[in-house]
Amino acid sequence: MSRKPLLAAIKERPLVGDGAMGTQLMLAGLAQGNCGEEWNLTQPERVLAIQRRYADAGSDCILTNTFGGSRIMLNRHSNADKVAAINRAGVEIARQAFDGRDGYVIGDIGPFGGLMEPYGDFTEEQVRSAFNEQAQALVDAGADAIIIETQTSLEELLLGIEAAKLAGAPCVIGSMAYDVTLDGSTFRTMMGVDPERAAHFMEEHGADIVALNCGTGMDMERARQAAARYRKVTSLPLMVQPNAGQPKLVNMQVVYDETPGQMVAGVPALLEAGVAIVGACCGSTPDHIRAFRLAVNQYENSTVRN
Ligand SMILES: [Zn+2]
Repeated sequence: MSRKPLLAAIKERPLVGDGAMGTQLMLAGLAQGNCGEEWNLTQPERVLAIQRRYADAGSDCILTNTFGGSRIMLNRHSNADKVAAINRAGVEIARQAFDGRDGYVIGDIGPFGGLMEPYGDFTEEQVRSAFNEQAQALVDAGADAIIIETQTSLEELLLGIEAAKLAGAPCVIGSMAYDVTLDGSTFRTMMGVDPERAAHFMEEHGADIVALNCGTGMDMERARQAAARYRKVTSLPLMVQPNAGQPKLVNMQVVYDETPGQMVAGVPALLEAGVAIVGACCGSTPDHIRAFRLAVNQYENSTVRN
């Protein structure tokens, strides 16, 4: 493997992430509420087709289709016995999507989908062991990094970071989901965490990249504001994956309304704010990523780097 480590590559130039997986799986026929991660084993060619479109559009980094790949999440679909297989296959499919080109496979760990004691039913040990198991499977399969994403609580984020480090992940990314407050004045996670606190926390606990994804009302400009707030308190590299606008219900289907043209207009400002990896979350498509690729290339060509 001649590929340079992800953390070395982002020192040289900004990278393009990928777009949505969940909404693309639905378009490919996954029924609402079904287990999309199971497709790594049962419909690998459909997962590969989605990720290949992102790679062809210019993604440098592809997230594995393992967002709900922890034992606790898979157990809801009676797939708890397939944790290792689903996560391993997730890494292999994402790698295959690059067709031998250089590219980074980021092992995706999403929320475990509940609340820990004392607010909920899950013990810290249950969540820790689920994340440890998933992270180990992703790293063993050769993931270049682990992202713990769509996080709203620092307690859960910490278990993810610790799991990734324990597994020996070459790079650990912590990614928070912020919601714009009702009065529109600021944004914080559902559990009340603001960007400064999150960035501090991640640095303190050994994350390598500070990120944000998804969230409510977090458009490209809000993502830029979050990146700027991260930058004030940490010098760690930054990654952002905003949604393609707001979800709207049209004909009983959830659609996201931000076009590639609208989203890409915010890319230069993100790069200016020092974002090292720019991708997108729910509702984004290969067309969004193709536009991002062009914008990042243009930015690179117009900037004198030393
Ligand atoms: Zn999302």
